[in-house]
Order: sequence, then C-alpha cells, then structure tokens
Amino acid sequence: MEYEPVIGLEVHAQLLTKSKLFCACSTDFGGEPNTNVCPVCLGLPGSLPVLNEQAVTFAVQAGLALGCTIHEKSIFARKNYFYPDLPKGYQISQFEEPIATHGHLDIDVDGVSKRVGITRAHMEEDAGKNVHGVAGDSLVDLNRAGTPLCEIVGEPDLRSSAEAAAYLRAMRDLLVFVGVNDGNLEEGSFRCDANVSIRPVGTEKLGTRCELKNINSFKFVQRAIDAEIIRQTAILDAGGKVKQETRSFDPDTGLTHTLRAKDDAHDYRYFPEPDLPPLRVTAAFIAAQRAGLHELPVAVRKRWVETLGLTAATAQTLSQHPQYVTFFETVCQSFDQPVKVANFVANEVLRGAKLHGLAATFTVTPAQVAELLLLVESGEISGKQAKEVFAALEGTARTARSVVDERGLKVVSDSAALEVLCQRLIDGFPSQAASVRAGKKALIGFFMGQVMKETGGAANPKLVSDIFERLLGGAP
Ligand code: ADP
Ligand code: MG
Ligand code: ZN
Repeated sequence: MEYEPVIGLEVHAQLLTKSKLFCACSTDFGGEPNTNVCPVCLGLPGSLPVLNEQAVTFAVQAGLALGCTIHEKSIFARKNYFYPDLPKGYQISQFEEPIATHGHLDIDVDGVSKRVGITRAHMEEDAGKNVHGVAGDSLVDLNRAGTPLCEIVGEPDLRSSAEAAAYLRAMRDLLVFVGVNDGNLEEGSFRCDANVSIRPVGTEKLGTRCELKNINSFKFVQRAIDAEIIRQTAILDAGGKVKQETRSFDPDTGLTHTLRAKDDAHDYRYFPEPDLPPLRVTAAFIAAQRAGLHELPVAVRKRWVETLGLTAATAQTLSQHPQYVTFFETVCQSFDQPVKVANFVANEVLRGAKLHGLAATFTVTPAQVAELLLLVESGEISGKQAKEVFAALEGTARTARSVVDERGLKVVSDSAALEVLCQRLIDGFPSQAASVRAGKKALIGFFMGQVMKETGGAANPKLVSDIFERLLGGAP
C-alpha cells in the first residue's frame, strides 16, 4: 500500500533573556554546574516565582512573527511529573489558555511555497540537565532549570522530511530575525520534537503517531523522520499496528528506538499555577510590539526581488540573518546598485562572515565595500582587481583607495597599447577571428578572455570590447 507521511513539529526555543523566567538567576550557558541557582529555581519550599517581563515581551514578539492571535489573558499551569532534573516535581507551563494561538509559518521546498499552521505558542520553564556516566554516577545540573522557553506547536501539516527540515530552518531564521532566540542547536537553545505518522494515500484519518525526541540538527531531523517513516511502513505492510510512543534517533545506526511508551492518557495532572495570577497583556502593549517588529525575512525577500531586482537565490542568501540584511542595505545606501552590491556581498563578504547567535562579525565594513564597488563602477579598477583589493582590506581598517594606490592597481586604459594587444590576438587566432567576422559574435568573449589573461584582469573591459568591435566589425 502507498502511505502518506504526516508530520507535526514541536519547537522549544529559549527566549533570549539575561535572567530566568521566574527568578533573577543568570541564563548563561556553560557555567560551573549548579552555580546559577537560587531557592526559586531549586524549588525550595516557601520560594515564590516572579514572572520575567522581558520573557513575556519576547513570547509576544515570537507569536506576532508567527501570525498568531495574542491573548490579553493567559494562564500559567503546573505540569506534574517526576524526573531528577525537575526539582519542584512540576514544570510551570501554559496549558489551556496559552499566550498565542492560530498562527502560520510559510516554508519553501524546491521553489514551492506552503503555509504550515501553528497551533499555539506558549511560555514555560526549562528543566535542568542530568549528566550521566560521571565516574559511574548520574549527576544533576540545575543551571538550566527555570530558563524561559517558548514552545511552538505546529499543526500536522507537513508531508515529508524535507518539508519538516524546511519548517525548522524557517522557524529558526524567523526567531533569530525577530531577536528572541539565538538559534543555537548545539547548545540546545533551539530544540525540536518531531511527531510522525503515516496513513494510506487518499485517506483523511490520521494514523497513530510516534514522537521523536530532542533532535539537535537539521540533518538528523530529516534522517530521523525518514527512518521512522520506513519503520512504520514496514509495520503496517506486515499487517501490524503502530504503537504510540516516544522514540529517539541514533545517528550512528540511522534508526529510531523506543524511549518510553506514551499514550494519550499520560496524565500530567495540569492545574492552574496558584502562585502566579493570570498573565495580562494590554491591547496597547500588543499593538506596540506589532509596530516594533523587525521586517520578517519573507517580506524582506519579496521586497528585494520585486523592487531591487535581486534573484530569489541571492535574496535567500542575504536574508539568512538580520546582520546580513543590515550589511547589505548599508552598502546600498552609499552605492545605489543593489544587484551589484548583492552579488558582491553574497559571493565575497559572506565567505568571511561568522555568526554567533544574534551577532555577526564581518571581515570588512559596509563602508569599505561601498568604496570598493565605486572604484569598479567608475572604471578605475577591474572586477578582478576588486577581489584582490577586497582580500587586502579584510581584517584591516584601510580604505580601498589606499590599497589601490599602494599596489599601483589601475585598469589598463591605454588604448594604443590595448589595440596592439588585441591585434596580436586576432593574428594569433585567425580561425576564431574569421568566425567572429562571419557573425559568430559570441566568440568575442573568447578574445576578451585572452586579453584579461594577458593583462592579469587589468584591462578596461569597455575599452577592449570597443577595440574588438572596431577591429572585427562586431560587438559582444
Ligand atoms: P503532546 O504534548 O502529547 O506531544 P501536543 O498537542 O503538544 O501533544 O503536540 C502534538 C504535536 O503532534 C503537534 O505538533 C501535532 O501537529 C502533532 N501531531 C498530532 N497528531 C499527529 C499525527 N497523527 N501524526 C503526526 N503528527 C501529529
Ligand atoms: Mg509532544
Ligand atoms: Zn534561580
């Protein structure tokens, strides 16, 4: 039988606050174990949670970026379960009345775009970490306990592992863009659970799902889902039934295996958190957040393609990170040729760029790039020379002009000398020259290439093509 995969993802994104959700402890990653803790996040009796306003602001911004309805009233609830990394014996989350519901995320797979529903986005605190196998012991580190998370539950709208990976990438780009998450999968500040089921093609009823836990890379999410689809297909083909359970993916074997059985009856005994009043955000606050939201990547790309003439691929490359957007647009302010700027930034500048969450470092400044492109535009240096100048500028505060002067770079614009060279090439390649004269204009490119080779890319291209046009009776 032919089956159709159905996938819905749950994303846990750490909100980029300096302190935890209900106490003043630092959210810094990588500290000595159990140093960023206090009575509240240790769950000591008598301690009371106090909500972090910045976390609420970030959650509202995330919800708005996902097109969600933001609710003026939402409720914190206790999700009760026992695990060593959860000192209180419950996690403060939101359950029946989350802060945001009914949104969407647009994804693009192989040039086809698709809108995926977002069921809800709510705030919750993270658990600590169990560290296993330390001299045969298991230890608990509670530095992470109480870190603010936004859990984003997606609708089961995805139909392939490729769509799931695209969804995750788009989600991460969006949250990083809006400035609420650092997008760091390795450090666990962006995590995902994937729910996977299959159903006979053409049927509506959803199959039984398995939940793949905590997959920490885009590559693994795709492999894990594919492995799970194959496993479920084999079960159904053999006449069996998929059991609902929580599974994990082993990248070494490429297989998923059971972590624990999980049926819908799993009882967290949710109830409203008695130590926190209902959360209220005003309509004015929501409106202000909406007004202050960074232009989203989808909108940025659309604007660049439609009004600046960028290709979709280049727009995609340059809109991967808000700092890329700022860099590109800053260069354009001084050099108003967006397509040329975009190509140069995408091909040269981004090669040396490094991202650290919300920050990005570049090897050059927008001002250096703008000046360099102006020198090319005015015909002072060639495009090839621009790459040499760029390499010399990287990591320095120099100006493009000073590099050009120091190295004596200049396009060869001595028309008499160039004409001698062109004539020598025409004589040296008589059959190509004859073809051009016979109308094969494309071969002018061959001659241009020879000139660039002989001059080390320094010949003024406009001048050379004029000379060939004159000598061969054709323009490229
Ligand atoms: P739980 O906490 O039990 O995982 P949630 O409602 O928080 O339940 O999350 C359910 C997730 O599973 C959603 O992302 C949803 O899209 C997805 N999902 C629900 N049913 C199915 C199904 N039959 N097949 C695939 N995904 C599903
Ligand atoms: Mg789940
Ligand atoms: Zn604390």
